[in-house]
Amino acid sequence: MPHVTHLECSLTGKTYEAGVPHGLSEAGRPLLVRYDLDKVAAEISKEKLAGRTEGFWRYREMLPVELEENRVSLGEVVTPIIRFPRSETKLGSTGQLLVKDEGRLPTGSFKARGLALAVSMAKEFGIRHMAMPTNGNAGAALAAYAGAAGIRTTVFCPDDTPQVNMDEIAFQGGEVYKVNGLINDCGKIVGEGKDKVGWFDVSTLKEPYRIEGKKTMGLELAEQLGWELPDVIFYPTGGGTGLIGMWKAFDELEEMGFIGSRRPRMIAVQAEGCAPIVKAYEEGEEHAPVWENAHTAAAGIRVPVAVGDFLILRAVRASGGFAIAVPEADIFSSWAEFAKEEGFLLCPEGAATYAAYKQALSDGRVGKGDRVVLFNCATGLKYPMPEGGEFLDRTQPINYGRFAG
Ligand SMILES: *Cc1c(COP(=O)(O)O)cnc(C)c1O
Repeated sequence: MPHVTHLECSLTGKTYEAGVPHGLSEAGRPLLVRYDLDKVAAEISKEKLAGRTEGFWRYREMLPVELEENRVSLGEVVTPIIRFPRSETKLGSTGQLLVKDEGRLPTGSFKARGLALAVSMAKEFGIRHMAMPTNGNAGAALAAYAGAAGIRTTVFCPDDTPQVNMDEIAFQGGEVYKVNGLINDCGKIVGEGKDKVGWFDVSTLKEPYRIEGKKTMGLELAEQLGWELPDVIFYPTGGGTGLIGMWKAFDELEEMGFIGSRRPRMIAVQAEGCAPIVKAYEEGEEHAPVWENAHTAAAGIRVPVAVGDFLILRAVRASGGFAIAVPEADIFSSWAEFAKEEGFLLCPEGAATYAAYKQALSDGRVGKGDRVVLFNCATGLKYPMPEGGEFLDRTQPINYGRFAG
């Protein structure tokens, strides 16, 4: 059974009661869920966890859903961590290059983690209608999980959202609109509709439970690596939910005595065409102003402004990590390189972490001996690839020579 004690404003520390729906704190910042971790630690052990099978719900004592009947599940799995020794050799790494492949989750992206939790909590609270702005994957996960829970969803996408995302949202029962603007413009529509329509705003970090879902990436990572965290984590950062969530997971695990105080260096990866966190990091700021004219094909990290900016920046700095922007051309070439050489289809956001890793390895910001985890956040199949294949006319004599040699 979960042991939530209260919620807490991430900026001011002001406390809020559990058991009722919440949006942002009065200070307009994300709320964090707090637990009685002594009680959790008394109830679960590493051995007990090892015997469980049900994906990230194995950590249910550290998750906020009170009643099992409110758990909305579509068959979540513990996502694999895959090692790529050939790339290690090629890049001159003497450590390890690991990819945590989040593309194996329901709806093909790690947005399933956050939305499974947000929708389960909405079910627990009796919420009937949820709305969000999305660059695609979050909307698809919302439509799927809310659909499974019988909750109505309305979703607003920027007009350059990949069509496949629009289609999967609609096909899974979400009401979806293409808006001539960016994700923050869509967010404004959702915010204004709160009073006018009465829907619940499930925007990134504007309700407390998506972080709890994303937190499970940190819990899985620790457990999968034998409770020994990696040296470095490269995370493609949009709203930063996953980076903030993992950082929270590590603190909770330490408080429970499951890990020590050593932390991975957290690297926030962005695209040069949309790098507000990198700019704030380099300028020594706590907050990141809106990035104008944001553009990158890696839609998941095309996020011009993040309410949790200071939480991302604090985690990055406290960990001894950094924020890094990669050129658009490198995202594409890294995507193609990894597909061809490793037989592994990253998503462009995952490819951005690979590009960032190569850059950091060559400029010495990451050591050759480091054990590194890259996050591949979605299946690459959701993204348009360069058109492949050639026409073959079977009615003409076939020159088999062209297939040989
Ligand atoms: C949402 C998303 C991201 C960014 O995740 P945050 O935790 O919000 O920063 C990265 N990649 C993909 C594929 C996404 O869908």
